[in-house]
Amino acid sequence: MSRVFEERVAMITGASQGIGESIAQRLASEGCNLILASRRQEACEEVGSLLAGEDIETLAVGMDVGSLDSVVASVDEALERFGHIDFLVNNAGIARDNLLVRMDPADWDAVLRTDLTGVYNCTKTVLRSMLRRRSGRVVTISSVVGLLGNSGQTAYGAAKAGVLGFTKSLAREIASRNITVNAVAPGYITTEMTAGLPEGATENLQQKIPLGRLGVGADVAGAVRFLLSEDAAYITGQVLSVDGGMYM
Ligand code: NDP
Repeated sequence: MSRVFEERVAMITGASQGIGESIAQRLASEGCNLILASRRQEACEEVGSLLAGEDIETLAVGMDVGSLDSVVASVDEALERFGHIDFLVNNAGIARDNLLVRMDPADWDAVLRTDLTGVYNCTKTVLRSMLRRRSGRVVTISSVVGLLGNSGQTAYGAAKAGVLGFTKSLAREIASRNITVNAVAPGYITTEMTAGLPEGATENLQQKIPLGRLGVGADVAGAVRFLLSEDAAYITGQVLSVDGGMYM
């Protein structure tokens, strides 16, 4: 694979597993230096050590996207190490599914704090360095649920739809600074988040997906890689669905 991202620095939130780890693998394979961030710093270190053969620099940081103080401390550490951040991939997220009538306020708060306020905290903090350099790319991972809705996912759907409004508004706000802001909306991707689906649910889901299969992390990573690349230089404020055709 060509090293198109050599000398570039990407911060990936939620990099300790799942889709975030797949994005880290893809960017590393093209020479990108990585800041791997999640609450479990050791798990991010482990992901970094698996990329040791890629001839890139990695920094693992323990960061809670829901806490602005934690994000500022981690971004400061990353800027001290790398000097700048070219790409921010807002991938960290949680789901706490329940019917609205049974939804605990604590679950509502946790989902909104992580999946929506987390995007605000990380983007606002990293943006300063991008604005100074008049260059940067922000990609946020939303969800097909933010576009279609899903019974039992009012909190998650609200957060993921919120992320789309955030993306489009910020894209307009900072386009003149040569910074693009886009969202990727995955469908059902095989990770720990979807591992808890009840027996038979996977077969039901497959019938609703035009391409007839669940996605894998690499499917999402390819879309993120595209939006970070020079080929996407004239694309901003867009939502790229990676869902096997569920939303069209
Ligand atoms: P996983 O549950 O496998 O991974 C979630 C990641 O987010 C972990 O690395 C976790 O690390 C991190 N994370 C969670 N909370 C926080 C926090 N407060 N601060 C920092 N990091 C946090 O999920 P996926 O890989 O499946 O999902 C990744 C993203 O993709 C999420 O935004 C999700 O909503 C979205 N998505 C997933 C789909 C799917 O089908 N899997 C479909 C559509 C969207 P740690 O525990 O170490 O903090």
